Amino acid sequence: MNRRPLRVRFAPSPTGSLHLGNARTALMNWIVARQTGGTLVLRIEDTDTDRHQKGAEDGILEDLRWLGLSWDEGPDAGGDHGPYRQSERHAVYREAAARLLAAGKAYRCFCTPEEQEAERDRLKAAGEVPRYLGRCGRLDGMEARRREEAGEPFALRFRTLLPSDDPESAEVRFHDRLRGSVKFLARELGDPVMVRRDGRATYNFAVVVDDAAMHIDLVLRGDDHLSNTPRQVLFYRALGAALPDFAHLPMVRGTDGERLSKRHGATSVAEYRRKGYLPRAMLNALILLGWGPQGDDSNILTPDEMIESFSLDRVSRSPSIFDPAKLDWLSGRHIQALSPADLAGPATRSLVGEGSLPDQALLPEAAEWRNGLARLVQDGIDRMDQVKERSSALFHKGGAFDPADPDMKLLLAGEEAHRVLEAMLQAVTDHAPTDVETWKAYKKAVQTGSGVKGKGLFHTIRVALTGSVSGPELDRLVPLIGSGSTLFPGSIPSIKDRIQSTIRQIDG
Ligand code: GLU
Repeated sequence: MNRRPLRVRFAPSPTGSLHLGNARTALMNWIVARQTGGTLVLRIEDTDTDRHQKGAEDGILEDLRWLGLSWDEGPDAGGDHGPYRQSERHAVYREAAARLLAAGKAYRCFCTPEEQEAERDRLKAAGEVPRYLGRCGRLDGMEARRREEAGEPFALRFRTLLPSDDPESAEVRFHDRLRGSVKFLARELGDPVMVRRDGRATYNFAVVVDDAAMHIDLVLRGDDHLSNTPRQVLFYRALGAALPDFAHLPMVRGTDGERLSKRHGATSVAEYRRKGYLPRAMLNALILLGWGPQGDDSNILTPDEMIESFSLDRVSRSPSIFDPAKLDWLSGRHIQALSPADLAGPATRSLVGEGSLPDQALLPEAAEWRNGLARLVQDGIDRMDQVKERSSALFHKGGAFDPADPDMKLLLAGEEAHRVLEAMLQAVTDHAPTDVETWKAYKKAVQTGSGVKGKGLFHTIRVALTGSVSGPELDRLVPLIGSGSTLFPGSIPSIKDRIQSTIRQIDG
């Protein structure tokens, strides 16, 4: 494993929310930085103002933070190589472009967008790669200067082929950590634009100027950028900058093998976050997109274990399949592996978030109660948004059970059930069950008071308190109802009220 501290970067464009493919790129960069004791740079690529979405940058940063992926340099974190937003770096790009122009490695292109489009159409019709054939590259220097002085708008283009190159066979090669040697025919690249007519740098140019200025050692990104790389390699060379290592990650696809899209359901981190997945489950699903730990079939990994065992060189080159069912499974496993104290916060927050509990449920005095909630729901959930259903018995008002349900009828019509209910009501004043001890005493008091024991006793207690014949273990549930109704009386109906509503329903 490479232990030289590496400088890597994650460079999102604020054109939408963080989707799964980009989140995986961010995760793998984060891991490489952490496992080498290196640096993760966050750079916002916001030069494409047409596709810019308001609020997208904040959203992406928020999603990264939620995932727990911290960066060392970035727009908010600062650092020695800023600014870290491309929209604040125009001067840097202009300076680099001017250098290449002065060295004869670039030229002014006065061709109008219409002329360029017509050229591309002609090439396409002839079955060739659409590109710019370099007309303005052949302009005489004096002529170019005259047109510039006359105020004609121009873009700056890079001269791909050198006079010494054989235009038919010249190649641009680079090494990709996942694909080995990659090569492109230079003539198929055309003469790429560095600075547009409106003065904005293109993505390909800005990314190279920035990666060089920020001393990036490894460019790890999606393979949708593989075809951009040869042009970027040309820019590195012309600028006299050292080439970084490249690694292009295979695209993420749905279970049907198609590129992951809305058709497959949720594709953004924010959507999964809203569905109640834990960040660590999300990270686990992301790291398994194209990689798996050696000799560990369970594939359950904490972030620390990922840093321990991830190896870029073992990332698969074939497309990665994202399967939401696998995420559910992973998520369930992560939840089961948490200690109740670690599950307590997220479980309670999900109930507060959807309005079942007041904000006070997150205060220190409710810590014990939160642990009880975690123990109550832990076995039965794969996601935090299932806590509500799993804990619904806590919020039941008593009574209101389905009168047509034969089980209930049988259970509550009898005289035994009546005795149990009366005894429950009697006992609740002196032995309100708020913990294991008081619950024991309560059970005993109800048993003695009613003369009923075993199944008849417990079924009646359950139905009286929860309106249902099945549900979580009473030993966990009843103390939580008792203590919860004291802590959050507006949300959790008291045991006494529940018994009374049940009696009213039967009598009425
Ligand atoms: N800004 C580019 C994107 O969001 C990434 C560029 C790169 O990693 O080189 O696709």
